[in-house]
Formats: sequence, structure tokens, C-alpha cells
Amino acid sequence: MHEQTLKLAALWARERERDALLAERAALEAAVRRQQRQLTDARALVATTEAQLKALQDEERQRTERMNAAAKRRDNTQRLIDEGRASSYEAAIKQVELSRAIVDEEENALLPLYDQLEDAQRAATGAVSGVKVVEGRLREAEAALAARAPGIAEALIPATEVRDAARDGIHREWLNRYDDLRKKNMSVFGDVRDGVCQGCSVKLVPTELAEHRRGVATHYCKSCGRFLGELL
Ligand SMILES: [Zn+2]
Repeated sequence: MHEQTLKLAALWARERERDALLAERAALEAAVRRQQRQLTDARALVATTEAQLKALQDEERQRTERMNAAAKRRDNTQRLIDEGRASSYEAAIKQVELSRAIVDEEENALLPLYDQLEDAQRAATGAVSGVKVVEGRLREAEAALAARAPGIAEALIPATEVRDAARDGIHREWLNRYDDLRKKNMSVFGDVRDGVCQGCSVKLVPTELAEHRRGVATHYCKSCGRFLGELL
């Protein structure tokens, strides 16, 4: 390989070592953010399930009160009838029937409501333990980041120095191309197999490939822009 190609390859190797440190830190930070988002969702679920539970509890209380009041009215009116003290017998009978109908109505409504309450209670309890699980995961993710972040920061200093030093002696034209490829998030080298760039699968210029093979010049793929790399 040409001396400039070798320098570029060395720079690329240092760059990837440094990139690995950055990627490791980014992954640890992303894990924390993911757990933070999940915690927000888990807390929202607690709020929703608790609101549903409270609504059902309110309904249960209201229906029970209405049922008890109707039962009391029914019994009191029945007693007046039994003791012959009802001011209007017809109205009293109607009152008893009406009260009895209300008791039946509320009983019928309360039976399924108890099942719903049980489900809602279970959902609310589950949501609360879900928050605890996510809180635990968040603490773990934060601890992993805190444990590793100083080491990464420390390692980044020499890694950056070595990477910057690796730029020395590379022609400006090649450095510009190198930086462009980096900016596009592309790998810097395209390996060569059967005269084809493995970066983009396009056939290379034969004369340039021959020079690259002999190590007399640095060349790049005219299609994707990557430097010609290993001959596979
Ligand atoms: Zn290519």
C-alpha cells in the first residue's frame, strides 16, 4: 500500500478506537434515557389505574347509599302499613314498590361493579409494582453509567491525542476526503474484491486499481468516495 494509504489506515484505526469509547458512553446514556421514558409511562399508568379505581369506588359508594336509603324507606313505609298508620294506603304501597325496585336496580348494578372493582384494584397494584421495577432498572442504568463514565472520559484524552497525531503527514486533499466520509457517517475504506469496491459494489478503474495494488499511489472509489483498502 502507498505510504499515504497506510497513514490513512492508521488514522482510521485510531478513529475507530476513539469511536468505540464514544459509542460505549452513548449506549450507557441511551439506556438511562430509555428507563426514564419507561418510568414516565409507568407512572402515567399508575395515575390512570388509580383514577379508574377511584371512579369505581365512588360509584360503588353512591349506589350503596342509594340502595340503603331505598331499603330503609321500604322498611319504614312497610311498618307504617303494617301498623295501620299510613296516611294513604295506596301511596304507601306505591312507595314500598318503588323503593323495592330501586333496591333491586342497585343490587343488579353492584354485582358486576364488585368484579370491576376487583380488576381495577389488581391493575392499580400491578401498576405500582411496575413503577418499582422500572425504578430499579433506572437505578441500575444510572449506576452503570456513573461507574463507567469517568473511565471513558479518562481514556478519551489519550485516544483523542493519538487520533489527532495520526493526522500528521497526511495530505490536505486526503484529509478533506477523510473528513467528508466521516461527516457522512461512512466507513473510510472500501476493500477490493475482484476489482470491485466492497463499499458500494461498483467496478473500480483498472489503472487506479493497478497503482493501488503496486502501492505507488493512493486512490479512492470514484463511485462512493471511499479510499481503496485491502485487496481481498
Ligand atoms: Zn465504492
